[in-house]
Amino acid sequence: MGCFVHWPPVSGADRPPVSPGRLVGVVQNVAEVLLAVAVGGMLASAVARVRRGQVRPVRCGHCGRPGSRAYVRCRHCGRDRP
Ligand SMILES: [Zn+2]
Repeated sequence: MGCFVHWPPVSGADRPPVSPGRLVGVVQNVAEVLLAVAVGGMLASAVARVRRGQVRPVRCGHCGRPGSRAYVRCRHCGRDRP
């Protein structure tokens, strides 16, 4: 017991400096960073728009109740939004 268990895990010091697996890891890290930047940028722009008051609920011109931008027809009164 103990001879076959390496803990803490051996670091990459005994591996070749550049291995295919390491390159894949780098590519994955870059992709994760890009994804995080893209998501963060979208969130930041959305928050900025809400703060500037550019996002307002769409209201039906007939009944005045809030509707959805995705539906042309009001779901309250059934008429097309102006
Ligand atoms: Zn309506």
